[in-house]
Amino acid sequence: DRTRAEGAVNPAVHHASTLLFDEPDDLYGKPIKTYALEGMAVQEALRDALTAIEGGAGATLTPSGLAACTLALLTMAKDGGEVLVTDSVYGPTRRFCDTMLKRLGVRTRYFDPRIGAGIAALLSEDSAGVFLESPGSCTFEIQDVPAIAAAARARNVPVAIDNTWSAGVFFKPFEHGADLSVQALTKYQAGHSDAFMGAVLAADPAWNARVRAAYKQLGLGAAPDDAYLVLRGLRTMGVRLERQSASALAIAHWLAARPQVARVMHPALESCPDHAIWKRDFSGASGLFAFELTPQPQMRIRQMLQSLSLFGMGFSWGGYESLAAPMNKNIMRTATSWAPQGEVIRLSVGLEHVDDLLADLERALSVL
Ligand SMILES: *Cc1c(COP(=O)(O)O)cnc(C)c1O
Repeated sequence: DRTRAEGAVNPAVHHASTLLFDEPDDLYGKPIKTYALEGMAVQEALRDALTAIEGGAGATLTPSGLAACTLALLTMAKDGGEVLVTDSVYGPTRRFCDTMLKRLGVRTRYFDPRIGAGIAALLSEDSAGVFLESPGSCTFEIQDVPAIAAAARARNVPVAIDNTWSAGVFFKPFEHGADLSVQALTKYQAGHSDAFMGAVLAADPAWNARVRAAYKQLGLGAAPDDAYLVLRGLRTMGVRLERQSASALAIAHWLAARPQVARVMHPALESCPDHAIWKRDFSGASGLFAFELTPQPQMRIRQMLQSLSLFGMGFSWGGYESLAAPMNKNIMRTATSWAPQGEVIRLSVGLEHVDDLLADLERALSVL
């Protein structure tokens, strides 16, 4: 087994660019790896582990989660084509579509995340691909992936989904008709807020080969030490998710009963509009959700956030430590409207004791 070094449980981490060969013929035309940019034992072990978790024919690693989003889009893009992107997509993915894809002559059409089978009306000869994200960034709409994928398949249009929220554990895109699945491994897989990485998983060998080709053409790679950190994170991801999922659900229920909270956006809550689809397609929920405050003066919201002591304020999520951040400035919509009355606060629930987290939130909300 090439991934085992002298009996060690974990694969070796090779710091390599050049690979040496004895035969000149081996350098050319053989189906063997000739350059370490393709990834060595530790990257191979990580790719295999990701495929074992989420399914599919293979995984390709990228230096960040955003690079995995853009790699999936570039793999599907075609000259003069149009990509259909959910209006609830991760902001930087939207920026890539609106700037670089546009400059390359690929149009983007945003659609209502709750469009379901209605996507059929938007599909055309020009459709290069559909890009989903479920739940949506910041706002947590659950998409009807089977209905969207069935409509796309009928027109031979590929479907990619940013599946970061589920960590590949709670939702299996390839069982619901997607061709590509994107993971920001920076989140739950790395799990310790100390590394960037992403992955694009493919449903079948043909799509895996297309992603792989685009990856090599773009010169992407994933650093061995970072791959080691993500692989190490994966060893405990299951138990971390159990804890974070349970704490987040308890906090979501608690928040739903607070007078300062207008609504809670957590798909496992029956009050959420997409709860039925979540229940049908997901096996659980991770530790990221949001709630909307009742209308409050900005000064009060600032005081509330600053009075949190266990929840840090910052971007990214999925780490061991809890985070809280205001999201209204981050919510972009062009195909639908989003007009919250109050500020939306996103929580990434970490590994701290849930009672301590609740006490922290109770203290902060009392400021309002
Ligand atoms: C964070 C995130 C990304 C990007 O991951 P980075 O590693 O931070 O680039 C992509 N999609 C979603 C849904 C994310 O939350």
